[in-house]
Amino acid sequence: MATYRVVERTHTFRDQFERLKELTGHRCTFCEDFSELMTNRMYRIMHNLTSVLDTIDLVRSGEYSHEDILRIIGLASPTYLRYYEVM
Ligand SMILES: [Zn+2]
Repeated sequence: MATYRVVERTHTFRDQFERLKELTGHRCTFCEDFSELMTNRMYRIMHNLTSVLDTIDLVRSGEYSHEDILRIIGLASPTYLRYYEVM
């Protein structure tokens, strides 16, 4: 659930972001305030680091099926899902 600055699609991105947080159970100090996350580069960097570590824990936990993980990847980044499908 890595983030980047999206100015023109902020509303859509926020909805998708909140859906991913709910789906993955991700919570961190840096993404509690969405507007701060969008405007503060250091918050995005720290959130992204935290979410990568959370993703590793999520995959290792065994609580999510392969299909669940693919669904999460598809929501978070359809581009990466296309790369995954090619492999
Ligand atoms: Zn976060």
